[in-house]
Parts: sequence; C-alpha cells; structure tokens
Amino acid sequence: MEQKFDVIIIGGGAIGICSAYYLSKNGLSVAVIEKNEIGKESSCSFGNAGLISPSHFVPLAAPGMVAKGLKWMFNPESPFYIHPRMDGELLKWLWRYFRACNEKQMRRGIPVLRDLTTESLRLFKEINSDENISYGFEHRGLLMLHNTIAGEKANRHEAHLAEEVGVETRLLNNDELNNLEPNVKILSRGGLYFPNDAHLIPDQFVNAMAELAKKNGVGFFAQTEALGFEKNGNRITSIVTSNGKIGGKEFILASGSWAPMLMKKLSLNISVQPGKGYSVTVQQPVHLPKIPFILTEARVAITPMGGTLRFGGTLELSPINLTINERRVKAILNAVPAYLDDMRLDAVNTKEAWAGLRPCSPDGLPFIGRFQAVPNLIAATGHAMLGITLAPITGKLISEIVSNENNIVDISQLKPDRF
Ligand SMILES: Cc1cc2nc3c(=O)[nH]c(=O)nc-3n(C[C@H](O)[C@H](O)[C@H](O)COP(=O)(O)OP(=O)(O)OC[C@H]3O[C@@H](n4cnc5c(N)ncnc54)[C@H](O)[C@@H]3O)c2cc1C
Repeated sequence: MEQKFDVIIIGGGAIGICSAYYLSKNGLSVAVIEKNEIGKESSCSFGNAGLISPSHFVPLAAPGMVAKGLKWMFNPESPFYIHPRMDGELLKWLWRYFRACNEKQMRRGIPVLRDLTTESLRLFKEINSDENISYGFEHRGLLMLHNTIAGEKANRHEAHLAEEVGVETRLLNNDELNNLEPNVKILSRGGLYFPNDAHLIPDQFVNAMAELAKKNGVGFFAQTEALGFEKNGNRITSIVTSNGKIGGKEFILASGSWAPMLMKKLSLNISVQPGKGYSVTVQQPVHLPKIPFILTEARVAITPMGGTLRFGGTLELSPINLTINERRVKAILNAVPAYLDDMRLDAVNTKEAWAGLRPCSPDGLPFIGRFQAVPNLIAATGHAMLGITLAPITGKLISEIVSNENNIVDISQLKPDRF
C-alpha cells in the first residue's frame, strides 16, 4: 500500500534537512527522499566552507561582476569559469544574471539577504540552546583580507554598504589583524572584520539535524530517487521514486542543483545553474587560526574546523558532474602564501579535493515559495554560496508556508517563478 505523509521533501542536503526539522517540530508527518545517502560527499552541503555569513548581504549579481567575470574567463586559474557549451538554459540564465547586475537590483536584494542571514544566525543560536547537539559551531567573526589597492577599495565599498544597512563591520590594518588573530602571521595590508559571522562543520551539522528530525518522527528514504509525479488537476498527489510511489499533501523541492531536471517532469522552470566549487581539508595544519578568512582578491575561504583547516573556492558554471579540475584546486592553495605566512601547503594532495555544486539563481537570491502553477509544490533552493548560512531560516520559512502562518522575513522577492 502507498505510504502517505503530510509533507514530502525531495533532497537531503542542509536545506531539505532543516525543512524536515522545522516541519516535524510543527507536528506534521514528514518524509525526506534522497537519491544518495544523507550527509554524504555528493551533496553540496558536505564539504563546503561552513561559514555562517551575515557578511554576505550583497547578492552575487552586482554591478561590475560581468566585467570581472569576462576577465576571469580567460584565466585557467581564476576563481570563476564558464564551461563553454551550447545549452539554452545556461544562456537564458546568463542573460538573466547580466540583467540583474545593476545597482538598482542589487540594492533591492541587499535588505532581503541581510534579513535572511541575520534571522538565520539567530535560529542557529536558538537550535544550540534548545537542542543537545554539537557540530563545531563557533561565533568568532570573519576576516576578509586584502593585499592590493583594488582589494582594499572593494572592501571599503563593502564597509560603506554594510554601514548603510546596519551590518556591523570594521576596517583593520595589518597590526590590528595580527592582534585579533595571533595564531597565524597575516601578511595582508589590511582587512574587513565582520564580528557577527560564525562557522561550523557542515557535514556534522547536516547529520546532527537529521538525527533531530529522525527523533521527531521524520521518515528518511535514502538511495531513493524522485523520478516524477502523479497529479490530480494542478495538484501533486504522489511522488514516483526509484523505490515506488509515496503520497503526500505538500511537496518541497530541495534538490539543489538538480532541481531543474525534476521540474521538467511538471513542465515547470526553475532558473538554477550548478556552480561547482572545490575544497581541500588539511588535517594537522602548522598554524590553526581561530577566525575564518576570505582572501578578497583570490576569492578563497579558509575555515578552521575542529583541529583541521579547510580551504575552499572557485565557481565554475559547468554541467552537472563532480569531476575535479586539479589546476583550479592548486590555484586555491597557491593563493594562500601571499596572505598568510608559513602556511605549508605544497605537500597537500589535491587528488583528495572535494567538489560540490552550488545551486545558483541568476539574481543571487534563493527561491523560497509556492509555484503558482502547482500550488502544493514549494521551492527551497537556489541558495548558491549561502546554503549553509540560510538553512535554518529556509526550514523555518518552509514550515510557515506549509502551515499558512505569516513569514518572519519578507519573501515576496523569492518567488520560484520570478523568471
Ligand atoms: C566550495 C564551496 C564552499 C561553500 N561554502 C559555503 C559557506 O561557507 N557557507 C554557506 O552558507 N554556503 C557555502 N556553500 C554553498 C552551500 O554548500 C550550498 O548552498 C548548500 O549546500 C546547498 O544545499 P542544498 O540542500 O540546497 O543542496 P545539496 O546539499 O546539494 O542537497 C541537494 C540534495 O538533493 C538530492 N537530490 C537531487 N535530486 C534528487 C532526486 N531527484 N531525488 C532525490 N534526491 C535528489 C542530492 O543528492 C542532494 O543530496 C559552499 C559551496 C561550495 C561548493
């Protein structure tokens, strides 16, 4: 007999799991369908940089990004790359991105990201005090280091924008940086300090939240791929999976970069492109900072995780695959010595790098809300560089949408069918 749930979540990454947590806390019966295993390498939520970033209030689509992207395109070691291919969806996405890279659109997005990131940090703290879990959460801020005049100019501009919208930040010189983070010798001429940022160990977070959801009665269907849907009129009645049909009242699309493929089965579009990134984790680093860094010019994130140090970066708009471009992984590591002294990374085995696919929207805002054409299907994807940061607030918003409650943050700009 077909199993039935109040809510079925497609995708067991950070977004799907946090949605399961909040929905089950509301007393609903919930199932999570995951084509692989929960909390494992193939999901983008596994090996990322683990930053919880109220500092990232400026959308990815911002003025100047197109020119920068074009310059980077021709450098095989640059932090951004588009795999050249004739793909109609990619071309449409790029056109939408190009149109979103303007001052007006960026300024419309900033308060949305500020509110989402701030509220999500509050929810992380609430989870920490309500639940007995540990996942390496540290609230120590973030340092965005710059080495060049252009980098300093970019960080000064960021500081002005931050001040305008009430995000706390401070520009520091080299001495101030080294006083704040004495565990490593910082070479950079200066940096921007965001005291409110935090960080965590992402796979531990996803697994800990999945355990909580399980305790709340959530059913987990691992190694189960969602293949299609059954409908009655414009509403979905059940999901067809590789292991049979499962019935439900509401369906949450939390399948990250894979979301567009499944939406085709419903003749729906969701403008998500995979943005591949890499990370390398050094087990016993010579120096272990307490505060995470972003290397401004190189776009590299460095995060202390327990006794290890993770280096992450690169955004490649490529087809869906997890193959590793070692040259780009090496470029991530090669960028480090110009910012931090005595970080011996020559011996790091780049073959052991991890790759993940960020689900990127063209305007840098996530997709959260009901599809007009299929009202019992709710999008929870498109979080790009912010999927860990925004996982709790997304889960909370999804539970509010399902229960027809007012949303704690305005989501009118996040409609899934806005393109
Ligand atoms: C190098 C790198 C560094 C990053 N650093 C940060 C950071 O510091 N802070 C931050 O906030 N974010 C960061 N991110 C982004 C973050 O990792 C993503 O935004 C986030 O993991 C997306 O979560 P998700 O749940 O939407 O997708 P995923 O984690 O990819 O989960 C989607 C899941 O859906 C499953 N699935 C897909 N299709 C189906 C189907 N048909 N049936 C069943 N299951 C399906 C997949 O197997 C997958 O497990 C980083 C990303 C990268 C690559």
